[in-house]
Amino acid sequence: MFVHNKRLQYTVRVAGPNPGLANLLLEQFGGPQGELAAAMRYFVQGISEDDPGRKDMLMDISTEELSHLEVIGSIVGMLNKGAKGDLAEGVEKEAELYRSLTGAGNDSHITSLLYGGGPALTNSAGVPWSAAYVDSIGEPTADLRSNIAAEARAKIIYERLINVTDDPGIKDALKFLMTREIAHQKSFEKALHSMQPNFPQGKLPGEPEFANVYYNLSQGEGDARGPWNEGPEWEFVEAPQPAVDGGDGMASVDLGKDQAKVVKQMATRTKSDPTVDPMTGADLGSGGAIRKGKG
Ligand code: MN
Ligand code: MN
Repeated sequence: MFVHNKRLQYTVRVAGPNPGLANLLLEQFGGPQGELAAAMRYFVQGISEDDPGRKDMLMDISTEELSHLEVIGSIVGMLNKGAKGDLAEGVEKEAELYRSLTGAGNDSHITSLLYGGGPALTNSAGVPWSAAYVDSIGEPTADLRSNIAAEARAKIIYERLINVTDDPGIKDALKFLMTREIAHQKSFEKALHSMQPNFPQGKLPGEPEFANVYYNLSQGEGDARGPWNEGPEWEFVEAPQPAVDGGDGMASVDLGKDQAKVVKQMATRTKSDPTVDPMTGADLGSGGAIRKGKG
């Protein structure tokens, strides 16, 4: 069950309305790195988790992300408060209202017109939130790595948002939210390494002849060596040739007699004849210039 507490997880003091900033903050409300995506990511993982420690952690963090969603949404609501009233009541002259929504070149008019100035489940460009942002695969050694990366991306978005506002109250709240993503990252990493082994992910080992091979496939000046492709654990293949398994590199399939016959029929019907060079629309349109080699 969920119980709602009317207080926010962190105290929010907003200095004054700013629809443009509200729009940018939507990135963390309904964007791919945002709080709803984070909450849902850990929630769906927690629901199906059988390990009691991981289940508890995923549910704790998922619920905290919902609290972050509430903080961000509240800030957006405060920043839009003036614009929301003005839009709804039409108190300002049209031109002034337009300017207050599009001031400083922002595009908050999109979300203001579509969602009336409330926090919308969109990113900062007005793209609706999508469940496709939840990229869980149902295997903790893979999901925890994905969670660590998601927290890293969320941290970076907060950092960028902190850099675009001079409102001390908002900066303060954003720094709290950013810091919590660092803490989550640590928990996920500890949880990942509390499972041993956790690499490679899942149960099947890789095929040994390909697991420690580095293919130099971008060739030419600029080839670089480092721990990612050099040293005793790597076999470096300077100029890989197809097929790397030593086979002929051709794709084949065994078809039944009837299917093989149909495939052959179709191949015969669609066979290209290199000796045919017909007049085309392009030739006609060019007045014959192309065919004379003047096109
Ligand atoms: Mn968060
Ligand atoms: Mn987080």
